Amino acid sequence: MSYDYDAPASAALFDRAQAVTPGGVNSPVRAFQGVGGTPRFMVSGRGAYLTDADGREYVDLVCSWGPMILGHAHPAVLEAAGAALARGTSFGTPSEGEVALAEEMVARIAPLEQVRLVSSGTEATMSAIRLARGFTGRSKVVKFAGCYHGHVDALLAAAGSGVATLALPDTPGVTGTQTGDTIVLPYNDLEAVRAAFAEFGDSIACVITEAAAGNMGVVPPLPGFNAALRDLCHANGALYISDEVMTGFRSSREGWFGIDGVAPDLMTFGKVMGGGFPAAAFGGRADVMGQLAPHGPVYQAGTLSGNPVATAAGLATLRHCTPEVYTHLDATAKTVAQLASDALSEAGVGHRVQFAGTMFSIFFTDAAVNDYATAKTQDTGKFKAFFHSMLSDGVYLPPSAFEAWFVSAAHDDAAIARIAEALPAAARAAASA
Ligand code: PLP
Repeated sequence: MSYDYDAPASAALFDRAQAVTPGGVNSPVRAFQGVGGTPRFMVSGRGAYLTDADGREYVDLVCSWGPMILGHAHPAVLEAAGAALARGTSFGTPSEGEVALAEEMVARIAPLEQVRLVSSGTEATMSAIRLARGFTGRSKVVKFAGCYHGHVDALLAAAGSGVATLALPDTPGVTGTQTGDTIVLPYNDLEAVRAAFAEFGDSIACVITEAAAGNMGVVPPLPGFNAALRDLCHANGALYISDEVMTGFRSSREGWFGIDGVAPDLMTFGKVMGGGFPAAAFGGRADVMGQLAPHGPVYQAGTLSGNPVATAAGLATLRHCTPEVYTHLDATAKTVAQLASDALSEAGVGHRVQFAGTMFSIFFTDAAVNDYATAKTQDTGKFKAFFHSMLSDGVYLPPSAFEAWFVSAAHDDAAIARIAEALPAAARAAASA
């Protein structure tokens, strides 16, 4: 089936890209392999909208996979980044913007006593598990199937996001030695966690979990799951690491911590806190963070860490994430999800809407999805048909059935009306797929 309608300029760019870049993209899910067709090359974004190389406009429900919480080209973020840019792009020294961003984060999230800035969520989780191993003197890491923590070797086992989209069983290049200390358990399965601690308790350095899973589609932790993880970690001398790269400053003003109140030992952040630039962080208990170089022996560093343009954009973004913004995101997410659900029900398509704060996704299955095994039972063929109908009617969804949908402060009634117009045909396309 060809999906290349209306996209000659994107198709030409994709041809050029494939000659010089593997798969034509710099991050696999962008390649549309999960849905087929030509990825749209975007040339600009404003508010709730993206415009592609063929001049077609889309309501954006990806928001750069989370960061663009205020919408594209938000004036305050542009102004802050522009002012920083004019002062120079990188100094390789400490600068005040890094301090201000760290202060803003620490002020918002009680368990976050200290943070270290890095450039990507991958670096944040990689560094957090190194620190947990250094702090505890232990080797093993527990992670959950379907959770994605970036492309850290040790965490690329049964990972979500692009690994789920491409249905990769394993990643060549990651050796058994690198994952030998990784214990992968089913998400939301406390019995499995208890059993792992019973068997390996004194060699487990940490449990890392997405604060609320968003990389197998949105699968929130069952009530009490995160609290029990923390308790099991503490009873066994391990650290509890909450990966808030996706949920941080997104699922609420204080991220998922603001929703479940379970204080982690370490947390990881990215996406929203960079305001669309490469900024990320890990942080938590001061006694644990104090083990990092130069204060302590655990090494971690970065040429562009705390980059002045990224920190200025991130700080402006966080400062504009007011309680009103979260109220708007909440209401908008609920409206869009309800509209989609109504259209699918009307067309007789089995589906399930799941939320984690202001993040949500729609599974093309009737089953309640509490883990990766159930997420994989959804009908991805129906999602493909739904996705392409929405795309052709000007709505840009994540090009995978295993990803969260994101709204922004800029998604207003006009944007919602466009989504509402596109939905019935997409639901009918899904029904006949
Ligand atoms: N952790 C989570 C929960 C994520 O969703 C992601 C990216 O999607 C990462 C880590 C990795 O972040 P990055 O893509 O910035 O390396």
